[in-house]
Amino acid sequence: MNADAGTGIDSLSHESASYPPPSDFVQNANARPSLYGEAERDRLGFWKDRAGLLSWKTMPTEVLDFSNPPFARWFADGTLNACYNAVDRHVEAGHGDQAALLVEYEDGSDATYTYADLQAETSRMANVLLDLGVVTGDRVAIYMPMIPEAVIAMLACARIGATHSVVFGGFSADALRSRIEDAEATAVITADGQFRKGRVLPLKPAVDEALSTGAESVRHVLVVRRTGADIEWTEDRDVWWHEARESASAEHEPVWVEAEHPLFILYTSGTTGKPKGIVHTTGGYLVQASYTHRNVFDLKPDTDVYWCTADVGWVTGHTYVTYGPLVNRATQVIYESTPDTPHQGRWWEIVEKHKVSIFYAAPTAIRTAMKWGEDIPARFDLSSIRLLGSVGESINPEAWQWYRRVIGGGTAPIVDTWWQTETGAIMISPLPGITATKPGSAQVPLPGISADVLNDAGESVQDGQGGYLVLTEPWPAMLRGIWGDDQRFIDTYWSRFPGMYFAGDGARKDEDGDIWLLGRVDDVMNVSGHRLSTTEIESALVSHPWVAESAVVGAADETTGQAVVAFVILRSSAAEEVEAAGGEEKAVEILRQHVGKEIGPIARPKKVLLVTELPKTRSGKIMRRLLRDVAENRQVGDTQTLADSSVMDLIQQGLSGKR
Ligand code: ATP
Ligand code: MG
Repeated sequence: MNADAGTGIDSLSHESASYPPPSDFVQNANARPSLYGEAERDRLGFWKDRAGLLSWKTMPTEVLDFSNPPFARWFADGTLNACYNAVDRHVEAGHGDQAALLVEYEDGSDATYTYADLQAETSRMANVLLDLGVVTGDRVAIYMPMIPEAVIAMLACARIGATHSVVFGGFSADALRSRIEDAEATAVITADGQFRKGRVLPLKPAVDEALSTGAESVRHVLVVRRTGADIEWTEDRDVWWHEARESASAEHEPVWVEAEHPLFILYTSGTTGKPKGIVHTTGGYLVQASYTHRNVFDLKPDTDVYWCTADVGWVTGHTYVTYGPLVNRATQVIYESTPDTPHQGRWWEIVEKHKVSIFYAAPTAIRTAMKWGEDIPARFDLSSIRLLGSVGESINPEAWQWYRRVIGGGTAPIVDTWWQTETGAIMISPLPGITATKPGSAQVPLPGISADVLNDAGESVQDGQGGYLVLTEPWPAMLRGIWGDDQRFIDTYWSRFPGMYFAGDGARKDEDGDIWLLGRVDDVMNVSGHRLSTTEIESALVSHPWVAESAVVGAADETTGQAVVAFVILRSSAAEEVEAAGGEEKAVEILRQHVGKEIGPIARPKKVLLVTELPKTRSGKIMRRLLRDVAENRQVGDTQTLADSSVMDLIQQGLSGKR
């Protein structure tokens, strides 16, 4: 970062479209406009009232204790149980027969778990864990595919007050071992294997490998039989889930824990570097998870069918699959596999089948659907959808428009939700029924949340300017630290701007004061003294009708310091037009000029490289640091959390002919 540019990050783009909330949302939405005023007048009182969304064993009288910053305690004298809140209380209130999980398996078979089923299953597995010697306060690693047992495993841990650490089922044995060791987990819950695009992939063998090379804290491995593949078995250590389940009682009294009891540890996606073990506790996390889920997604538990497509390996799968929706008594879809198995319309087929009304996915998936073509979703009846959500990266305005028009029938409001593993729950988002939405902007901090955009000097930027996104007040679902590393917690988040949480993201305020995310500050480019962020240039590229997806990086340049290099994936429908325009070389020139015209000559890429894939994390975020390595002809850096490691070879081979 250069210190002389007082404005932080230069902002170039000036989108103006805005969509007022549909009138049925204005009339019926859960979120009332008065929430903003209420939270402004008395922020802590507001959160105290929101705590009433939960069922407490002991009602808290305290709200926030921030006497030892940056370590916060919320609702610290309250006691509760997360699984009780997600499951038992709904059964006690007479909703035991309501479907909680509508499960879709890869092969097209399905299953339904009611709230009563979840109560029985989480009780059985709680008893199994206790039998295996897992006690309150232990850590349990969960390494599973996206099947109902994954959700049940998380809730069973919560039921006995064991802290779960979910490790994405696509990660390697090494990644699993290092996470087990970091948390000193005493048990692992896994499956024999998982189905992926018609193939059987192993899971248990990775656990065996992780445990044979370390992870000595683990005493037991509980194994769900999913694929029936042959696996190695270690007597006395390994236990079949289905066998243990059979003899376990379906009665279990939840363990009441203090609000600050650690509910889970989860490692960040690793987009920018080594993943951090983020710690979340019970009370504040659940309060904000349920409050945001209820208001941002406008959940009506008696009529909605909700589907968040995230895997439980990511924080979105924690807060908006396992905890938020179940605490709010949602009926929700979970799906085992990928959007293109066995065909590219699979997601939309599931929407049609279950009449999904609220759909929450990542921009990467939306851009991929754009790339495949809109005739695919057009084959399905998506008229049940009334609200769409986006999370994980900025959604380019063009992708936003496509999402609203093709998936949302031209009317569904889109909530673009900004948050992080660290924030635990949504922080910045429009509220349906209140906010007039703007394509590409997450817009406003939720009631009860205080965010700002600062310049290098730590001053709040004016409307129309860019800088660094910070959170200026503690919030209930905030991370309580990095597991075992308080110093890294302080250094990473609380040192850049004293007294404030620095999110690591760039942002700008538009003329209305709405917030636009600009990408990671680590990815900011410095071109002839202008500091350019990735998002606006990428969105300008995606606004061209040929482009499905793009990633830009700054590569060292002798004259300008850094030069913008763009990696672009064309839509499959663009092939003929590119040919007609004179081929790829011409197309590249047209795209360069397009960016120049859209946002100004300074942002015009020096190079545009056409590729067929981009390197992404397993959670679907573009890893620009690897593309920077390519653009600067360096050895490609750490690819541990990359979804498909062959992508980098593909890109390099494709480019070697073109340099
Ligand atoms: P690491 O911290 O290890 O690099 P990560 O930041 O990718 O990993 P996550 O917590 O999964 O891990 O991602 C949070 C980040 O995702 C945010 O900091 C932001 O950069 C991006 N993000 C999430 N939602 C949005 C959104 N709606 N708009 C723009 N960016 C978003
Ligand atoms: Mg991060």
